[in-house]
Amino acid sequence: TMRPTPYQAYLRIQIGCDKFCTYCVVPATRGPEQSRPPAHIVQEARVLADQGVREITLLGQNVNAFHGPEENGNSVSLAGLTARLAEIPGLLRLRYMTSHPNDMLDDLIDAHVSQPALMPFLHLPVQSGSDHILQAMNRKHTAQQYLDLIERIRSVRPDIALSSDFIVGFPGETEEDFQATLDLIKKVNFASSYFFKYSIRPGTPGAEMDNQVPEEIKSERLQRLQELADGQRYAYNADSVGKVMPVLFEKKGRYPGQIAGKTPYLQPVQVDGPDSMIGCVADVLITETRTNSLMGSLVGEKA
Ligand code: SF4
Repeated sequence: TMRPTPYQAYLRIQIGCDKFCTYCVVPATRGPEQSRPPAHIVQEARVLADQGVREITLLGQNVNAFHGPEENGNSVSLAGLTARLAEIPGLLRLRYMTSHPNDMLDDLIDAHVSQPALMPFLHLPVQSGSDHILQAMNRKHTAQQYLDLIERIRSVRPDIALSSDFIVGFPGETEEDFQATLDLIKKVNFASSYFFKYSIRPGTPGAEMDNQVPEEIKSERLQRLQELADGQRYAYNADSVGKVMPVLFEKKGRYPGQIAGKTPYLQPVQVDGPDSMIGCVADVLITETRTNSLMGSLVGEKA
């Protein structure tokens, strides 16, 4: 368990992966998917909540494939687990990462509607917008299947914020493939995106591919992606201005008299407020967007 603040914890619930993406060392180094027993996780979460933790992020290499073994031989899905965790007094917010699109099943999508503790934020990496590259990566879905999935998620939870990882310059990536990635990013409109230049991981199939992309092309594409994503993130944050959102205050703010926290959509917010509200959730009117955070003012009573 990691504790970035006294009110937040990261709890590992799953390790390993059965997906075998061709750039990734996880299946070789961590082995097959294994999920921890739900009873153990719930017990740990209770202890954390008693210690004052208000938000838990459930971690796993492929966390939405979670299938926790029960003593009676049944297995519990991630949605089943979050439903149990949401019953723990004091635990107000649940998040999870990282997820694979193919394991984003209906019960988990629906949990984003039926379980208020499950935050409307989803880190769902797609890596590329090109079918030819997705296939070379062994991601096991097409760009259109990803877009259809996003549409289905948004049809039940229109306000959900989405983020993704992208690998730039996977072996064989042409300018046309890269354009397909830009197109996908434009279509989805991510709240945030993370880019990584492809780098050879010894022992993975990608390392053996002979059509490696030159470093300067990777750098140039990375910059173009970054500009597009920065614009989307800025527009996403600008769109929040004028809205009232519940913010979990985590720590003192940048300046004296300020406190800092996050919206349900994982946006950092700074407000003028008393330290006594740190560890509480309160409604905030978002008044302004800055480069890396939002500014707001308190409008509600603490939860
Ligand atoms: Fe690695 Fe994630 Fe692919 Fe699994 S789904 S092989 S952890 S990149």
